[in-house]
Amino acid sequence: MTVESFYQKILNPPEPWIVSKVNLSGLGPRVNVWLTHEKHSFCCPECGVEAPLYDHMPERSLQHLDTCGRETCLYVALPRVKCPVHGVKAVAFPFAGPHQDVTNDLERKCIQATIANSQADIARLFGLSYDRLAGIMNRALQRGMSLMGEKLRRKRRIPPYMWYVPRGGWD
Ligand SMILES: [Zn+2]
Repeated sequence: MTVESFYQKILNPPEPWIVSKVNLSGLGPRVNVWLTHEKHSFCCPECGVEAPLYDHMPERSLQHLDTCGRETCLYVALPRVKCPVHGVKAVAFPFAGPHQDVTNDLERKCIQATIANSQADIARLFGLSYDRLAGIMNRALQRGMSLMGEKLRRKRRIPPYMWYVPRGGWD
């Protein structure tokens, strides 16, 4: 088993995504994992209709859950499709939303940890900068606010930590 097939198994990305390269950076503290895709057409994120591949966005990195205590980053150049109705659009990536610099899995763990830990503890625990953690908290807050609505939150005086709703809801 190669290190790429190992990460393919543990990350288990949905089709058509595959782990194309893994760099363990020697004995350094970080594991870098590159994901790519096999097929050449994707669905338009606006209408869901399959559209031909147009190009790829610049490569971006996403901090993921650690692997055996080593910080793990995913790298991907997201494909863009050319939809006849909506024009050129970046496709949805299963591991993160369009404006995230951390994966959904890491974001979910951080949000769950907010219940019993200070933000300083969470940043230290997950190896996150305060800016990155603030981004996670803000996205969770926006999701929570959109689910509950500002009126309901004010009426019931729900404490701030209850606003945080992870993507896909609580497990
Ligand atoms: Zn479209």
